[in-house]
Amino acid sequence: MLFSKIADFYEKIEATTKRLEMIELLVDLFSETPREIIDKVVYLTTGRLYPLFVPIELGVSEKLAMRSIAMVAGVSLKDVENALKEVGDLGLVAEAFMKKKRQASLFYQPLTIETVYETLDRIARESGEGSVEAKLKHLSKLLLDGTPKEDKYIVRIVVGALRLGIADYTILDALAVAFTGSRENRPVLERAYNITSDLGLVAKVVATEGLEALRNFKVTVGKPVRMMLAQRASSPEEILERMGGRCSAEYKLDGERMQIHKDENRVDIFSRRLENITYQYPDIVKITVENLTARRAIVEGECVAINTNTGEMLPFQQLMRRRRVYGIEEAMEKYPAMIYLFDALLIEDEDLTGKPYPERRRRLAEVTREEERIKLVKAEIVDNVEAIERFFDAAIENGCEGIMVKSIQQDSIYEAGSRGYKWLKFKREYKTEMTDTIDVVIVGAYMGKGKRAGSYGALLVAVYDDESDTFKTICKVGTGFSDEELESLPDTLKSYQIPHKHPRVDSKLKADIWFTPAKVIEIIGAELTVSQVHTCALGYVKKDSGIAVRFPRFTGRWRDDKGPEEATTVREIIEMYEQQKK
Ligand code: AMP
Repeated sequence: MLFSKIADFYEKIEATTKRLEMIELLVDLFSETPREIIDKVVYLTTGRLYPLFVPIELGVSEKLAMRSIAMVAGVSLKDVENALKEVGDLGLVAEAFMKKKRQASLFYQPLTIETVYETLDRIARESGEGSVEAKLKHLSKLLLDGTPKEDKYIVRIVVGALRLGIADYTILDALAVAFTGSRENRPVLERAYNITSDLGLVAKVVATEGLEALRNFKVTVGKPVRMMLAQRASSPEEILERMGGRCSAEYKLDGERMQIHKDENRVDIFSRRLENITYQYPDIVKITVENLTARRAIVEGECVAINTNTGEMLPFQQLMRRRRVYGIEEAMEKYPAMIYLFDALLIEDEDLTGKPYPERRRRLAEVTREEERIKLVKAEIVDNVEAIERFFDAAIENGCEGIMVKSIQQDSIYEAGSRGYKWLKFKREYKTEMTDTIDVVIVGAYMGKGKRAGSYGALLVAVYDDESDTFKTICKVGTGFSDEELESLPDTLKSYQIPHKHPRVDSKLKADIWFTPAKVIEIIGAELTVSQVHTCALGYVKKDSGIAVRFPRFTGRWRDDKGPEEATTVREIIEMYEQQKK
């Protein structure tokens, strides 16, 4: 299949402002793809070569891509740099320069998807001495053979900026239609995806072997399971009601969620976004190899930064300093961390995800040797309001954000990839004012005036509506940013900029600048109010009105550990609103 086909589809997908049209385009693309390469097309469409958890990166810096463009187009590096400054999107820069490039060479061969994928893979695998020049050579060959439009997408893919803004679940929808003829089969694809986190694999299997083969997918060491998440609760009474009167209450630690896969002496750690973050945590690797007594296991826990002198837990920001590529050992010394485990998904060859929570926790305890830097999360069975309140107070006193409560009923299975009511988080009481923060997605921006000229005056932010897979605006936020942060906002957000509202964004307001929903920030406000202009929970309180945050303020926290679909949901906002009314 020719690469030009994919490029045409990407261009159409980028041009559409309608979500349904976007899905139809994907269905067409997948249907026209030869089945043997459907996995490659799916990975490419997500802007990658492999699923997120495979730690192979293309490793092409913007600088290297610019050198390649300059070489192939026969212009100077300075020209390319200047164009990038002006346009802000290296893909568009490549396209523009390539239109002027010299005529196709004598040996010109139209690019196929296979060639592009294989060359990109070769680029990704080059390492060590001379690898930069080798990458340059491979990339330049591709750009030379590509049409300007193809080059636009090749460049965006190599620098990690394809960003079509398509949710994984939308790809599953499109695959279900393309290969099983109906969206109704999506749950089968979804389950297979939730326990393997591998869209390409799901695509390949459904395309070549059919639905039955997907049903046989099993939880396996090495493939991260999409994490189970929690809904919010707003009072101990509500907790007891939802949990059937009795549940396990646990400390809610403010750190980074980890899913740890152990196979003999090998350990892989996956983040909540399912990236392989093993290399950042040699200390956690070591303590789990030594203290998880099962030969093979998948366990989950929260990693927190600690003060080794006092044993106190430190805020999340401290731990985030460990998120780096260089100086890992140094950061490890400077920001020591430990792991608190709370769940087991697999032990030896037994898949535990279908077992009730008390059994999983018991099995976890059996295989964990508690030590200074590895412990089980503090948990207690509670069955009355006072007990919950007491436990909650103790949690806060010990530096936690609040508590998590988990169902201990017979049906309390590990629900991969779902945010259900079997787990609830209870942070602080939502009084008349908003005391809890929310995580919102940046979807647009307004240009600043006066002191803020040249930067943004405010960001248009949205929450996630998981029913329609769209983002609903909830407020404009312009306060809480430091001067420096404010100044760097346009730069930080530049590569997410798109020329029109993204098809998944639902907004009555017109922003000056639109973004692909990707970046998540934490905000807090004075309260939730009825709003004529925002689309969050439209029609819920009043016809034609939504719910908005009044006096929103950025807390300073970029939630890079969350993807856009992990932002606060419309449903959570409605619950917070109801709670606030009481
Ligand atoms: P939130 O990020 O507010 O949706 O809260 C869910 C997150 O709390 C999880 O993804 C974990 O990272 C974290 N967490 C902290 N303590 C626990 C616990 N005891 N059980 C489960 N998750 C926890």
